[in-house]
Amino acid sequence: MTAESSDAGPAEAGPHDRETIRDRGTIRIGISACLLGQEVRYDGGHKHAGLLLDAFGTSVEWVAVCPEVEAGFGTPREPVQLSRGDDAIRLVTVTTRRDLTAPMDEFVRRRLPELRLEELSGYILKANSPSCGPREVKVFDGHGGTVVDSGRGLFADALIREFPQLPVEDEGRLADPRLLEEFVRRVFAYYRATKNKKL
Ligand code: SF4
Repeated sequence: MTAESSDAGPAEAGPHDRETIRDRGTIRIGISACLLGQEVRYDGGHKHAGLLLDAFGTSVEWVAVCPEVEAGFGTPREPVQLSRGDDAIRLVTVTTRRDLTAPMDEFVRRRLPELRLEELSGYILKANSPSCGPREVKVFDGHGGTVVDSGRGLFADALIREFPQLPVEDEGRLADPRLLEEFVRRVFAYYRATKNKKL
């Protein structure tokens, strides 16, 4: 698990400390790790979303996930893209055309139950990523040369299916102050609605 804590967050708390997390009133938000400044992108860089993170101040605890690193793809790595297969959308390396759908699916099956224990109140994803993008990610044909459709990144798709009520946005849309304000409102409402429930 990759988690960063704000001053307000219980750095020593793990995902199994369910009552402890509730009692301390910590709001936990999942986030694509590269947005938090972790150098996990395919080129070894990050996409630190400073202004966005500043908007939340120290009032939340970030739970960082990089699906591609946690699925074992390594850093740096060959970039991947979504590719339309015969039966489903696949995750394929751009140049060598290796199909990495199976390890990503295995990671998703392992990680989503862990994220349920994290009691997240929202999730901020990296836009346009074939793993993290929650909308309008390019889907290419089997050769990778032509865009034939758009969809969700594989991790984002599984996350949204698993937690259909969870407020989820991408950092691109949250650059709009109106959408950011609405997202923050939804996060706090979700937190209030769920903090006394057994999920
Ligand atoms: S977009 Fe997602 S998979 Fe890509 S580097 Fe960021 S966290 Fe990792």
